[in-house]
Amino acid sequence: MTAPTGSMPTYLGMPSFPEAAKAAVADSQLRRNLTHATTTIRVKRARAIGELDDWPGLREAARAIKDHTLAHLDTYLPRFEENVVKAGGHVHWARDAAEANAIVTGLVKAANADTVVKVKSMATQETGLNEALELAGISAVETDLAELIVQLGHDRPSHILVPAIHKNRSEIRDIFRATMPDAPGGLTDSPPDLAATARAHLRQRFLRASVGISGANFAIADTGSLVVVESEGNGRMCLTLPQTLISVVGIEKVLPSWRDLEVFLALLPRSSTAERMNPYTTIWSGATPGDGPRDVHVVLLDNGRTATLADHTGRQALRCIRCSACLNVCPVYERAGGHAYGSPYPGPIGAIISPQLRGEGSPVDASLPFASSLCGACYEVCPVAINIPEVLVHLRATAPKHYPERAVFSLSAAILSSPRRLAAAQKAAAASRKIIARKGRIRRLPPPLSAWTETRDAPAPPPESFRAWWSRTRGPAEAGPAGE
Ligand code: SF4
Repeated sequence: MTAPTGSMPTYLGMPSFPEAAKAAVADSQLRRNLTHATTTIRVKRARAIGELDDWPGLREAARAIKDHTLAHLDTYLPRFEENVVKAGGHVHWARDAAEANAIVTGLVKAANADTVVKVKSMATQETGLNEALELAGISAVETDLAELIVQLGHDRPSHILVPAIHKNRSEIRDIFRATMPDAPGGLTDSPPDLAATARAHLRQRFLRASVGISGANFAIADTGSLVVVESEGNGRMCLTLPQTLISVVGIEKVLPSWRDLEVFLALLPRSSTAERMNPYTTIWSGATPGDGPRDVHVVLLDNGRTATLADHTGRQALRCIRCSACLNVCPVYERAGGHAYGSPYPGPIGAIISPQLRGEGSPVDASLPFASSLCGACYEVCPVAINIPEVLVHLRATAPKHYPERAVFSLSAAILSSPRRLAAAQKAAAASRKIIARKGRIRRLPPPLSAWTETRDAPAPPPESFRAWWSRTRGPAEAGPAGE
């Protein structure tokens, strides 16, 4: 359950990341589902990227375009607005989630609709739009297959691209059987059966809906156009059939021109679904009489983005094109799953974007910058070169949870900067081995160090240090690297 309004709803009652992850790690079925899915996507993605001659060049071009645009939003956003209006659309500005939800709810009511069909949209998950619409008596039907599974199962998405990645086929079949009155009696768990059942279930809803709601992958300032890429065709139905179309778009999605879009249409499909191009790329500019929706609205969403932009290191998170590649390579995500991140944005990008967009006030947001081993795999795969480890370290410096870690690092610095103190510490560690270690391993330490040994052990300190051994066997060193 999410809070219906606010700057970005934290899932209510969400514990800190380590607490939530502990439950997820104990779920062996979840771990199997995740490992299978992320390994498959990883291998396919590497193959798709290997086909290009100059992936690093493309990546650098994308980074430069995003950085330029983010630095000039004051030029490109008004230009985008002007061109949307010129093309017959309407633009609304929303400072936060509450404002965005109120605007959308008002537009749906003005269209006299009590049901809307939705294209998969991270921005509306971020604002908790479905819950806000429900409070206003409007039901929102998710039409992306994985989003539909999550919605019918009263669950939450756990992956940006594959929101139901934590469910296997038989679990999905059980959800369909329990929640779709129109599901065939002998429904099996074969993918074609499941897809056909979802398709039949959604078809009538597409045809009946008078309002469609979407996000956008990109917004082109030069022509006021919006772009949605997808794989199932459900987006195309939502974007063309209803009379009213409302798109909630983060302000960082704007690109200056069509030439810039070309770079991202080459990067995004390969990096996300490992395809050379997206099966469906829908582009629309305002309203066109006799073709598609007659009433087109764009809600430009800030919701913490301007504040993020003001942070010199943290702002690179706004380059994100939501490809999910960082999730699929992350050893922490693969074990903990997406729910532990307490946000629509899980994985490495979630660990840096959620605390920036909504602040570090809740237990989960304060813990997210620590939900990483800093291995750097996320940075390596990111198609827009977001240095996620750099932002994590930056956020750790300001996180409330940082104090114990800071104390440990200060103590380490004091010891390592003095050969005399280092020798004394090594001596003390060697002396303690009889008390803290059993059979060569340290398995349990008293609090607060128990937080470490609860989930891992460590080798016992050696009986003597290398320096002590050298002095004992070769005589005192004349001048070691540390000046001993
Ligand atoms: S941070 Fe990079 S790799 Fe992760 S989702 Fe965003 S663009 Fe993709």
